[in-house]
Amino acid sequence: MDRITRKTLLYKTGVEYGDYTINHVEGCAHGCKFPCYAYMLAKRFGRIKSYEEWIKPKLVSNSLEILDKELPKLKDKINFVHLSFTTDPFMVGYPEVTNLSLEIIKKLNSNGIKVTTLTKGIYPDELLDKNSYSEYNEYGITLVSLDENFKKEYEPYSSDYKDRIASLKKLHNAGLKTWVSIEPYPTPNIINQDLRVILNEVAFVDKIVFGRLNYNKKVREYLWYKEFYNYCSDVVIRFCEQRNILYHIKDGTITDDAPYILKGYQNDTQDLFFKHTQRAVK
Ligand code: SF4
Repeated sequence: MDRITRKTLLYKTGVEYGDYTINHVEGCAHGCKFPCYAYMLAKRFGRIKSYEEWIKPKLVSNSLEILDKELPKLKDKINFVHLSFTTDPFMVGYPEVTNLSLEIIKKLNSNGIKVTTLTKGIYPDELLDKNSYSEYNEYGITLVSLDENFKKEYEPYSSDYKDRIASLKKLHNAGLKTWVSIEPYPTPNIINQDLRVILNEVAFVDKIVFGRLNYNKKVREYLWYKEFYNYCSDVVIRFCEQRNILYHIKDGTITDDAPYILKGYQNDTQDLFFKHTQRAVK
C-alpha cells in the first residue's frame, strides 16, 4: 500500500452531525459510484486525477505522530472524533488501514475522547476488547439496500451486506453502541425495494440516520422523488419512535414543497410508488 505524510490530521468538520474528524487515508478502495462525494471533491481540488487513482488508497503513515502533537492542544475542545468523512476506516482488503484505524481509536479513547465510526467494511473483533476501546464509542455501517447486485454496481468493492450487518450485530451483542446510516438512499427507478425490510434487518441499532441520494441525475428523473423521500422519512421516524431508536433525517431529505398526500397511509403506499415508478420509467 502506498504511503504519504501529512502535517495535520485532526480538524473540525462542517458536516451536519460531525464534530472533529480524521482522514488518515487518501482515497478509498470501495470505489462507490452513487457517486462518492469525497471522490468528487478530491478530483475537483486536484488531489487525485482519476477513479483508478482513488481506489488505490494511500495511508497517512505519520498519523499517530501527528495525533501525539495535536491532542494536547485540542482535546479539551473535542466532543467526539468521527472516522471518517472522506475515506473508510475498515476498508475491505486493506489490513493496514484497519490496523491504523484501531491504533487511532485506542489513542483517542485513552485521551478520554469518544470515537464514532462509519464503514462499508467489516468491523474487527479487536473492538470487543473493552479494556482497549471505550464503551462510549459508536460504531456504524452504511446500508442502503440488501440487494447484492445493487451493491456490485454502486459500491463494487465494499463488503457484502450480510457480512457487514453481522459484524455490526456482533458489536451490539457485546453491549456496544451501534448505528446505521441509510444514506444515500436511492429512488425506486434506481432500485425497487422496500425500506421497511432494510429497517427490520438493522432494528437492533441504537440510532438510524436517513438521507436522500444527491448528485445523481436519476433521482430527478423520478417524478415523485420529493414525495418519495418525504414518505421514506416518515417510515424511518415511525419505525424509530415505535422502538425507541434515535434517528436523524439529513437536511434536504424532507421537503415542504412536495404535497405530502401519503402521510398516514404507509401500509399501502409502497405499492403505489412502485406503480408510479414503472410509469415514470416508460
Ligand atoms: S466507502 Fe465512502 S469514502 Fe469510500 S468510496 Fe464509498 S462513499 Fe466514498
